[in-house]
Amino acid sequence: MKNTQRIAVIGAGISGLSCATSLQQAGFEITVFDKSRGPSGRMSTRLGDGWQCDHGAQYFTARDSEFYTEVMRWQKAGVAELWDARLQVTDGVTFTDKNILKDAQVARFVGVPHNTSPAKFLAESLVLETNTTIQQLEHSSNTWRIKSGEHGWHEQCFDSVVLALPAPQVMTLLQVPLPSIAAIASTVKMRGCWALMLRFSTQLDLSFDGLFVNKAPLSWVARNSSKPKREGEETWILHASAEWSEAHIEDDAESVAATMIVAFLELGGVLPQAWAAHRWRYAEAVAYLDCGFVWDANAKIGLCGDWLNGGKVQGAWLSGKKLAEQLIKN
Ligand code: FAD
Repeated sequence: MKNTQRIAVIGAGISGLSCATSLQQAGFEITVFDKSRGPSGRMSTRLGDGWQCDHGAQYFTARDSEFYTEVMRWQKAGVAELWDARLQVTDGVTFTDKNILKDAQVARFVGVPHNTSPAKFLAESLVLETNTTIQQLEHSSNTWRIKSGEHGWHEQCFDSVVLALPAPQVMTLLQVPLPSIAAIASTVKMRGCWALMLRFSTQLDLSFDGLFVNKAPLSWVARNSSKPKREGEETWILHASAEWSEAHIEDDAESVAATMIVAFLELGGVLPQAWAAHRWRYAEAVAYLDCGFVWDANAKIGLCGDWLNGGKVQGAWLSGKKLAEQLIKN
């Protein structure tokens, strides 16, 4: 049955798409907005000419039963698969898989053929306006109006608004219309992450597919080409640690790449044929909230996202779903 309520969901990352999907299934009229060219947010893949590389979330686990059911749905739709990776941990000197083996029962999933695939799958059944950066929200006479940098004021008014954005972006949007909700977001500091995608003309065989690195500047090294259904050139991804990334967030990409590549060589890597860098400004929260979501019934505005629910892809998906359940109850 069609619900006459119109809801704007701002942010087409996994939390916004999860929220929008549940609300649409309940009959609400939903429009999703995102500033980027496509959905998926931080669960992202860089597509180049003949190469691809996941440069945001690397894999996801599904310890929660509801999220596990969703991941099985993605698997059935052909947009997710298990990544049977050889994982190791290093302090920069010794390499071990002992800690990982303790965790051997944990299934690690990836999107296929890219980590953006589950988000694209969810977005297929939604109305999604991309390249639309929401810059202003206005609440009057019980309705919301939204303004984007690209298209000005949106012609439609909305009964409710969901912000599925990292905390600092929520704060920017809400500090004028709703400072009390903006204050919740202001308690969560988010840190950046430098990601470096490496390309090779031949296969590079190291003893691991994914390596947790406990030595700055790196925190993670992985062979992107070891993930299922990846085509094109051999690609590897390096992530810098949160502390190092924050300290170098304004550095130029060349100097960041030079430092990260030297660290990769020290771990047994070789010089790449080419590289591309990406700076995530808000990769992860320093400390996550565990309230799940925020819903202000008077203003009819909700917040969801990983920072409200313990982090990670699973936390983001559940946050969006729980917020939708709250709206459906109202
Ligand atoms: P986001 O994905 O950030 O979605 C927010 C969306 O809002 C984006 O699409 C953005 O374009 C849009 N947006 C922002 N501002 C505006 C605006 N003003 N107007 C319109 N749209 C806007 N998680 C794991 O589970 N496993 C991992 O291995 C893992 N590794 C990670 C590695 C890195 C480098 C990063 C950055 C993240 C990693 N994560 C990992 C975390 C995971 O990616 C996130 O928890 C999850 O994707 C967050 O989803 P979200 O919907 O809450 O936010």
